Amino acid sequence: MVASDGKYFCIGSWRLACIVTIAALFQGVYTKYFFYQPLPPIFILMKRHFTICLLSLFGYSLAFGQDTVSSRYTLLEPDRVFDGRQMHNGWWVLLNGNKIEAAGEPSTIKVPAETKTIALKGETLMPGMIEGHSHLFLHPYNETSWDDQVLKESRAERTARAVVHARETLMAGFTTTRDLGTEGAGYDDVGLKTAIEKGIIPGPRMLVATRAIVATGSYGPKSLIPEADVIKGGEETDGVEGIMHTVRSQIGHGADIVKIYVDYRWGLNKTAQPTFTEDEIKAAVAAAKSSGRMVAVHSGTTEGMRRAIAAGVNTIEHGDGGTPGLFAEMKEKGIALCPTLAATEAIMSYEGWKKGVDPEPFAVKHKHEIFTEAMKAGVTICMGGDVGVFPHGDNAREMVLMAEYGMKPIDVLRSATSVNAQVFRLNDLGNIKPGYLADLVAVQGDPSADISAVKQVKLVMKDGVIYRQE
Ligand SMILES: [Zn+2]
Repeated sequence: MVASDGKYFCIGSWRLACIVTIAALFQGVYTKYFFYQPLPPIFILMKRHFTICLLSLFGYSLAFGQDTVSSRYTLLEPDRVFDGRQMHNGWWVLLNGNKIEAAGEPSTIKVPAETKTIALKGETLMPGMIEGHSHLFLHPYNETSWDDQVLKESRAERTARAVVHARETLMAGFTTTRDLGTEGAGYDDVGLKTAIEKGIIPGPRMLVATRAIVATGSYGPKSLIPEADVIKGGEETDGVEGIMHTVRSQIGHGADIVKIYVDYRWGLNKTAQPTFTEDEIKAAVAAAKSSGRMVAVHSGTTEGMRRAIAAGVNTIEHGDGGTPGLFAEMKEKGIALCPTLAATEAIMSYEGWKKGVDPEPFAVKHKHEIFTEAMKAGVTICMGGDVGVFPHGDNAREMVLMAEYGMKPIDVLRSATSVNAQVFRLNDLGNIKPGYLADLVAVQGDPSADISAVKQVKLVMKDGVIYRQE
C-alpha cells in the first residue's frame, strides 16, 4: 500500500497507539486474504508486545510520519501513457496523494524533493478501466445455471462470491464498475459497495442498480406450479404509478442507477417481446432523472429499443434489436450502447459453439452487424461485457472482442476509460489529467498496438493506493 497523505498523523499519539494496535491485531487476516504485500514487520512485534508497542509509539509515529511526508509524491515512469484519449510515448505521471498532479514529458514535470519513484519499464500507464456492465452477484452459467443461482444459492453464498468477484475485478485493472442488478440478491450490492468504500474488502468503485425493474410475469425464474411464489431476478412492477414508486423505492434503498428490462424472452415460444409500455418507461425515466440518476435498459428487440429511445433513457444494454434508424436516433439523443459482445459469445459457447471451429451462430453473426451499424451511425459505445455471465477478472475479454469486431484498439481503450467515465458522469475518473483521481493501471506492452496487452496487468492503483504491483 502507498500511504495517501499526511492527514492521519496530526492526531494525538494515544489515539495513534489505539489505531496501530488494532491494525496490528487485524494484520494477519488482512494480509492473508486481501493483499499481496504484508504490512511492515513492526506490526507483528506490536501484536506480541503490547507494552513495548506503547513505549515505542512516539518514535515510530515520527518515523512513519516522515515516511508519509516523503511518499506523498509519487512519480510513475512508464514507457508510455494513455491519458484516456491519446497515447503519449515517454510521458511520466506525478501523483500527489490520491490525485494526479502532472502528466507529460519528463522535462515538463517539476519533481518535488523526496518523491517516491516507481519505474514501469516496458509498460503502459493508463486510467483505471471502467467496467460498464457487470453482475458481481452472478458467476458463469456453465458453472451453475442462472435459475439455480437465483433459486438455490443462499444470500450468504452469493455475497461471499461477490466479495471474491469484487477483488478479481479490481486486480484485473478495473477500478470502477457499473453493476446492473443483483439478480435476486436484493439490495446486497449496496452493502458490498459500502464495505469496499469502508476499506473492509478490496474492490472497484461501484455504481449499483440494486434489484433492477421488470414487468410482472415477464422475468424469471418461473415455475409451472401456479401456487409457487418463487423469488424473481428483478423487482416486478406495473403501470405508470407503479413503476415510479419502484424507481423511487430502489433509489431510497441505495440505487445509483435505474435498470429496466424493456423486453424479455416472455413471448410465445420464449421469443423476446416488449414488456413496459412507452408511457411506463417515460414515467420511470422522469422519476429517475428527477433524482439526478440515469436509466440503463436491457433491450433485445426493435420495439423495446424504440420505446426506450423515445422515453429518453441514457444507455441501452445489448441492443440486438438495433436498426440503422434507431442507431441514428441514439446518436442524435446522446444515448450510448453497451453491446455486451462477450456475453453473447459466452452463452453460445455454453450451448456448444466452438469458436474458430464451428460456423458462427446467428446470435454472433447478428452481434457483428449490430456493432458495425452502431459504429457507422456514430453511437457512443460503452465498454461493458455483462461480466458474470463469464468469469469476473476476465472483463477485458469484451475489449478484445470489440477490436476483433472492427473497433480500433485506441477507440477500445477510450471506451473503457474516458468514454465510460463521461457516459456514467464520473467527472474525476477515466483520464490522466491534473486534478483527476489516481485510479491507474499499468500493463505490459502497448495496448494501442495489441489490445490484448490490457490483460497483462502489472500495477493497479485506486485512489492513490497500490493494490497490485508486479
Ligand atoms: Zn446484464
